Amino acid sequence: MKRATPCLALLIPCYNEEDTLPHLLHTLDKLLATLKSEGLIHNNSFVLYVDDGSRDNTWQIIEAHSLQNVHSKGLKLAGNVGHQNALLAGMMELRNEVDCLISMDADLQDDIAVIPSMLKHHAEGCEVVYGVRNNRAADSFFKRYTAGLFYKLMGKIGVRIVSQHADYRLVSQTALNALAQYGETNLFLRGIFPSMGFPSAVVAYERKERQHGESKYPLKRMLSFAWQGVSSFSGLPLRLAGVCSLATLLFALLLSFLALLAWARGETVSGWTSLIITVLFLGSVQLFCLTLIGEYLAKIYAEVKRRPRYIVEKKC
Ligand code: UDP
Ligand code: MG
Repeated sequence: MKRATPCLALLIPCYNEEDTLPHLLHTLDKLLATLKSEGLIHNNSFVLYVDDGSRDNTWQIIEAHSLQNVHSKGLKLAGNVGHQNALLAGMMELRNEVDCLISMDADLQDDIAVIPSMLKHHAEGCEVVYGVRNNRAADSFFKRYTAGLFYKLMGKIGVRIVSQHADYRLVSQTALNALAQYGETNLFLRGIFPSMGFPSAVVAYERKERQHGESKYPLKRMLSFAWQGVSSFSGLPLRLAGVCSLATLLFALLLSFLALLAWARGETVSGWTSLIITVLFLGSVQLFCLTLIGEYLAKIYAEVKRRPRYIVEKKC
C-alpha cells in the first residue's frame, strides 16, 4: 500500500557554517518549494537547522532566516557535542512532528537531486533510505583509501553498516521511534539504523566537493569516529587477548620442547630450562585470564548500553 504524501523535515547539523549558510538557506528553500509544488511532500514540511554549539555567526543567521520563513526552523545546542549527537538532537526533536526526515551535511556535498527517489522508496514502505556515494572522486586519495579500509574492516568484524554511506539518509517516524529506545551515549548512527532491521533501500549519488568553509572532520576526528564505530558495535578488540594467548601457548610448547632437548644434551646452564618454561607458561596463563576478563567485560558493555532487544515494526 502506498503511503500518503509525507510531512518531511530536512535535518541539517551546522557547526561553524557561516560561510556555507547563505547559499544553503537559499538552496533548501527552493528545494522545499519545488518538492511541495510537485506534490511529493506535505505543505507543512520544513527544514530544521541544528546549531551544534558554533562559535561563529551560524545561529544568528539561522534565527534571522527563521523569522522570515515559517518553513525554516532552528535548534541551538548549548555546546559542541559532535555531528552524531547533533543529528540525534534533531531526530528526537522531530520524531513526533514529521512522517519522515532526511539528514544531510550543511555543505551540500550530498546531491539533493536524489531526494525524490528517497521519497519514492519511503512511499513504497521503506523505513530507512540510505544515500550511498557511487564515487569518491571529490575526496583526497587518503580519505578515499582509509574510508574503503574502514568499511571492509567493519564488515569483517561483523558490524552491519552500509558501505559508502555517510549520514545522508531518510528516516521514517517508525524508525525514529525505534531510535528513541537506544539509551547509549556513544552513538554511531551508521551502525544503529542497519541493525534495526526495517525494510530499507539505497539510492546512489555523486558526492560533490565542499564549496564553502572547511571540513570539520580532520584526521584526528575521523580516526576517533572510526574507533567509535568499532568499539560501539564489536567486543572483538576485547577478545584479541584470546588469540594472543593461544599463539603464546603454542610458542611456549615449542620452545619448552627445544629447551628440554638442549637440557638433555647438557647444553644449558643450570636453572635456565626450568626458568624459561615457567616464564613461557605463565605468560600464556596470564593472557588467557585477560581473555576471560575481556569476555565478561564485553558482556557488561553490551548490558550497560541498554539497547532494545527487539523492535516492533507494525501492529494490526
Ligand atoms: N558538524 C557538526 N558538529 C561537529 C562537526 C561537524 O554538527 O562537531 C556538521 C557540519 O556542520 C556538517 C556535517 O556535520 O554539516 C559534516 O561535517 P563536514 O562536512 O565538515 O564533514 P566531511 O564532509 O568533511 O566528512
Ligand atoms: Mg562535508
